[in-house]
Amino acid sequence: MAEQFDVVVIGAGPAGYHAAIRAAQLGLKTACIDAALGKDGKPALGGTCLRVGCIPSKALLDSSRQYWNMSHVFDQHGISYKDAKIDVEKMVGRKDAIVKQFTGGIAQLFKANKVTAYYGFGQLQAGNVVKVKQHDGTEVELKGTNVIIAAGSDSIELPFAKFDGETIVDNVGALDFAETPKRLAVIGAGVIGLELGSVWKRLGAEVTILEAMPDFLAAADAEVAKLAAREFKKQGLDIKLNAKVSKTEITGKGKKKEVVVTYNDAEGEKTLTVDKLLVAVGRRAATNGLLADGAGVQVNERGQIVVDEHCHTGVDGVWAVGDCVRGPMLAHKGFEEGIAVAELIAGLPGHVNFDTIPWVIYTEPELAWVGKTEAQLKAEGIPYKAGSFPFAANGRAVAMVEPAGFVKVLAHAETDRVLGMHLVGANVSELVHEGVLTMEFSGSADDLARICHAHPSLSEVIHDAAMAVGKRAIHKAN
Ligand code: FAD
Ligand code: NAD
Repeated sequence: MAEQFDVVVIGAGPAGYHAAIRAAQLGLKTACIDAALGKDGKPALGGTCLRVGCIPSKALLDSSRQYWNMSHVFDQHGISYKDAKIDVEKMVGRKDAIVKQFTGGIAQLFKANKVTAYYGFGQLQAGNVVKVKQHDGTEVELKGTNVIIAAGSDSIELPFAKFDGETIVDNVGALDFAETPKRLAVIGAGVIGLELGSVWKRLGAEVTILEAMPDFLAAADAEVAKLAAREFKKQGLDIKLNAKVSKTEITGKGKKKEVVVTYNDAEGEKTLTVDKLLVAVGRRAATNGLLADGAGVQVNERGQIVVDEHCHTGVDGVWAVGDCVRGPMLAHKGFEEGIAVAELIAGLPGHVNFDTIPWVIYTEPELAWVGKTEAQLKAEGIPYKAGSFPFAANGRAVAMVEPAGFVKVLAHAETDRVLGMHLVGANVSELVHEGVLTMEFSGSADDLARICHAHPSLSEVIHDAAMAVGKRAIHKAN
C-alpha cells in the first residue's frame, strides 16, 4: 500500500528542495526523495549545486584567487611574503567541509519544515505513484496528489573522451584533483571550463581550453566577451576557438598517465598532451530510469521533460522543474520554479519571470548580465540606447586594484525602460542585481541615474553607466 502525500518531490537539488520546503510551509504533507551520496558514502541532499557544482566550485575559486593575488596583486599594495605554497589537499578539504555543512543544512531544514526525506532512487509510475529503491535495499511506494520531478542534470560525455574519473574527468573529478596538474586541457570554453580552468591555472597548471565554436562566449554581450577574453589571455589561459576534438588516448601508468588529445583547427590536425582532461561541453537532463512505462510524461529529443509555462507536464498533478526542463541550467532558476510550483499547487499565483534571470560567471574579472544583449535587440528590431562606464574610472575599483571591466546599460530608445545590463569587472556577481531589480520594477535608465549611490563604491559604475544612457555621465566624456 503506497503512503499518501499531498506532494512527492523527486530530487533534492535547488529546484526540488525549494519546492518541498515551500509546499510544507503551505501546509501540504510533503515527501522528498534523493538518490545522491556524498564523498563519505552517506546521503547528501542539495543536488549538483551543493555537492559538485555552485558551492564547491566557488570555494575553490576563492582559495585559488587568494593564492593568485599573493603573487600578482599583493606587491602593488606593498605587501611581500616568503615561500607562498598551496596545500591542495587542505584546500579541497576546506571545500569538502563547506559542502558537508550545506548538504547537512538541507537535511535540518527538511526536519524543521516537516518534509519527510527518502534516500534512494525514485521512479514515477502511472497514477502519480513513485516507487523508491532505498539505499538499504528496501522499496517503498509513495502516492502524491501532486508529484514534482526535480531530477536535475548530468554531465554530457563525449564518445571519444569517456570519463574514467581520474585522467579524463567532468566537474566532479576536477573539483577533487589531489594535486595541481602540470598540464590541464579542457574541452568546452563554457561556464564550467572557464571557472574550473581558472582555478587550476591560478594554482600553476598550464591550461589549454579547446572550444568547438568560432565565437567566445556567444551568449554574452560581444564587448563583455571580448574584454573577458583579453583578461583571460593575460592570465595565461590558452583558449583555442574553432578547435574540434576528434580523439583522446590515455597513455602511461600511475603518476605517468597522460592524455593525448587530437583536435582540428583552421591549421589542420594537432595533438596536445596533458596530465588531466576536463570535459565540460554542457549538461543533459537526468531522466534515465526516472519514468516507468505508462507514467505518461513526455520527454523531448534533448531528454528534457516537456512542460508548459507553469512547469506542468500535462499529466494530472505531475510537474517538473529545474535542470530537467527547458530554460537555463541555473540553480536560482530552479529555486524560483520550485517555489512557483509549490504555490500553484496550494492555489496561489506562482510565477517565474524568465526575462530577469541573472547570469554570472565567477572568473576574474567576473561576468554578469540580465536581459537582452545588443545583438538580440538588433535582431528583434527593438530601438535602444546604450550607456557604459569603465571600472578604471571608479575610485573604489582602482583602490582595490580591480580596474578591468565596465558596465553597460541598455534602455529602450523611446521609453527609456531598461532592457538589459551587462557587466564585467569586480564583484559584478553582486552588482547585476541592480539591473534585475530595475527591470523587475519596469524602471528606466533615468530612474537608475537619479538613485543616490554611496561613494566610493563599485555600484557607482552602474550609476555612471545609467547617466551615460542620457549622455550626462559626470566622470567621462559623453
Ligand atoms: P540538481 O542540482 O542536479 O539536483 C537533482 C537531484 O535529484 C540530485 O541530487 C540527484 O541525485 C537527484 N535525483 C535525480 N534523479 C533522481 C531519482 N530518479 N530519484 C531520486 N533522486 C534523483 N548554477 C548557478 O546558478 N550558479 C553557479 O555558480 C553554478 N555553478 C555550477 C558549477 C558546476 C561545476 C556545475 C556542474 C553546475 C553549476 N551550476 C551553477 C548549475 C547548478 O548546479 C544547477 O543548475 C542546479 O543544481 C540544478 O538544480 P536541480 O535541482 O534542477 O538539479
Ligand atoms: P556550457 O553550455 O556553458 O559550455 C559548453 C561549451 O562547450 C560551449 O561553449 C560549447 O560550444 C562547447 N562545446 C560543446 N561541444 C564541444 C565539443 N565537442 N568540443 C569543444 N567544445 C564543445 O556548459 P558547461 O560549461 O558544461 O556547464 C553546464 C551548465 O552548468 C551551464 O550551461 C550552466 O547552466 C551551468 N553552470 C553555471 C555556472 C554559473 O552560473 N556560474 C557555473 C557552472 C555551470
